Amino acid sequence: MSDLPRSFVTVGGGQAAVAAVRLLRRRGFDGPVTVLSDETRAPYQRPPLSKDFLRGETTTEEVTLLDEAWCAANDVDLRLGAPVESVAPGEARLADGSVVPGEAILIATGVRARRLPGVDGDRVIHLRTLDDAVRLRDLLPSAERIAVVGGGLIGSEVASSARESGIAVTVLEVAELPMLAQLGPRMARFYADLHREAGVDLRCGQKIDTADSTAAGVALHTADGTVEADLVVVAVGAVPNDLVARRSGLAVDPARGGIIVDSACRTAMPGVFAAGDIATRAVQDRYTRVEHVDNATTQGAAVAKALIGKPVGGADETPWFSSDQYGLDLQFVCRPHPGAELVVRGNVADRDFTAFYTTDGIVHAAFTVDRGGDIPAAKQLITLGLPVPAEALAADDTDLFDLLDTIGA
Ligand SMILES: Cc1cc2nc3c(=O)[nH]c(=O)nc-3n(C[C@H](O)[C@H](O)[C@H](O)COP(=O)(O)OP(=O)(O)OC[C@H]3O[C@@H](n4cnc5c(N)ncnc54)[C@H](O)[C@@H]3O)c2cc1C
Repeated sequence: MSDLPRSFVTVGGGQAAVAAVRLLRRRGFDGPVTVLSDETRAPYQRPPLSKDFLRGETTTEEVTLLDEAWCAANDVDLRLGAPVESVAPGEARLADGSVVPGEAILIATGVRARRLPGVDGDRVIHLRTLDDAVRLRDLLPSAERIAVVGGGLIGSEVASSARESGIAVTVLEVAELPMLAQLGPRMARFYADLHREAGVDLRCGQKIDTADSTAAGVALHTADGTVEADLVVVAVGAVPNDLVARRSGLAVDPARGGIIVDSACRTAMPGVFAAGDIATRAVQDRYTRVEHVDNATTQGAAVAKALIGKPVGGADETPWFSSDQYGLDLQFVCRPHPGAELVVRGNVADRDFTAFYTTDGIVHAAFTVDRGGDIPAAKQLITLGLPVPAEALAADDTDLFDLLDTIGA
């Protein structure tokens, strides 16, 4: 008799959970499947919330990932407004005390927006949920000036979407350049220029000391002065939702949170997996947690494959992320190592290039601007891990797949 699980429960109904559920049903898993979500909305995609949804180009239906009709047709028990307290082998325990049995359990509880102490109120928005996005989208038309705290991806996307509607935008970034840690200094300067050329008042090295509600909106105070805005969007990172894991005695990253899993997303508890933004892979003493859709769906699918006895590949070591800002398609593969050298293919001034981050000729990250076509080859170059001649990499007439063949041969 097979020892594969015959029922499946997800804690959370986001990208990772939905990827697992859909793949299980597609591959013919016919046991009970239950999705437990603490949200009251049907599962949805988050990436559009700071982009097309915010600009009013996409509807709530279009961002929905799992609707009632699909669940009914595929015999999936979707329970909304059902926060889970803890898990144990074979069961998930809800906050109302009820228990849902599941021979396999996936914890995919994601992250929540980090808050800034003292920055809160009616005119302050932390963009994480569809409800946050609806609120922001509804408030934006009446705003003449907004302040965005945090020049990372979500903050930048909000800034870009607001500029498209002609709203005055101030971005307050604590680091000396936006996206400095993700892109390194030269590309972070490029990124800062993008903002400024779009008319954003980008102020770096700004830490918010205090904030006040004013008649017109909010006043943010920094050591350099005060920024007043009708609306403030706080986008200063996220905190893992790992309370379920902590209550259940599962191991979490002691410093940054996140549930510790192996390369197949297994926790140390039998039959319990974790995937997506909440999952932290421990390799030797290094903890890696990725907050991207690509990673969430890959890991969710990997869990589903494990449940039906299919071989599971290792975790994707080349996390990939795409963004759309100021009309440009920006994509990133991996994070550059500090001190990496840049090899640029294409033209930075024309905003049509790929920046490869190399150390001793070995490519370990890439950033593309309107050159998403270079991403598959960049991923393979990173995985290959062999030195690549910089001139060949930079030359626009080099076919990157030919180059891969040459150096990999
Ligand atoms: C505004 C915005 C824009 C983004 N843009 C991009 C982008 O362009 N590209 C990209 O790759 N990524 C983007 N991301 C990140 C991406 O959305 C996440 O990486 C992805 O959603 C992670 O999926 P997940 O399943 O791990 O978690 P989520 O999709 O966050 O789902 C987790 C779910 O679990 C629920 N939950 C938490 N605790 C409990 C509990 N105790 N019981 C029951 N349910 C619980 C949560 O409420 C949530 O619904 C963006 C995120 C945001 C907020």
